[in-house]
Amino acid sequence: MAGERFLPAYVGLGSNLDDPAGQLRRALASLAGLPATRLLCASSFYRSPPLGPASQPDYLNAVAGLLTTLPPLELLAALQAIETAQGRRRDGERWGPRTLDLDLLLHGGARLASAALTLPHPGLRERAFVLVPLAEIAPGLRLPDGALVARLAGAVDAAGLQRLAA
Ligand code: AMP
Repeated sequence: MAGERFLPAYVGLGSNLDDPAGQLRRALASLAGLPATRLLCASSFYRSPPLGPASQPDYLNAVAGLLTTLPPLELLAALQAIETAQGRRRDGERWGPRTLDLDLLLHGGARLASAALTLPHPGLRERAFVLVPLAEIAPGLRLPDGALVARLAGAVDAAGLQRLAA
């Protein structure tokens, strides 16, 4: 809306079902089409071992950088609508396989702690599959507490993570 300020927001994407690379590409196209939002950049795709039950396929992960005037909860609702449109079922086991998982990692300098939305995303500091792609597109970014993304990415165990050729 006119006069509203665009803020940077970062979204983590993950998929390990039904053509994960296609799922991520479709999700990026949907992010580019969100109202009041511009898709600025996207990282490479990364292959990572699953966090939860080990008997599921590897994940593909990426991070997208947006500029948006949508407030955090509205952006989260838009991300959930994209997940649903791509066949995400919310009744599966926690950490189970999924066609598409979109996490709101950061929204400007916002800090929130509610059941509906925690910002920065609680997994951000310890997950290589989030920090490494985030550092690829925004190494100089700082979290609201001042931590430098490039430094966090350099300190995390990224042994299982594989960057895929574009
Ligand atoms: P998941 O199974 O990982 O997709 O978790 C989705 C749930 O986490 C939803 O109920 C969201 O409301 C909640 N949630 C809390 N903080 C966040 C966040 N930063 N990004 C995405 N979902 C979040």
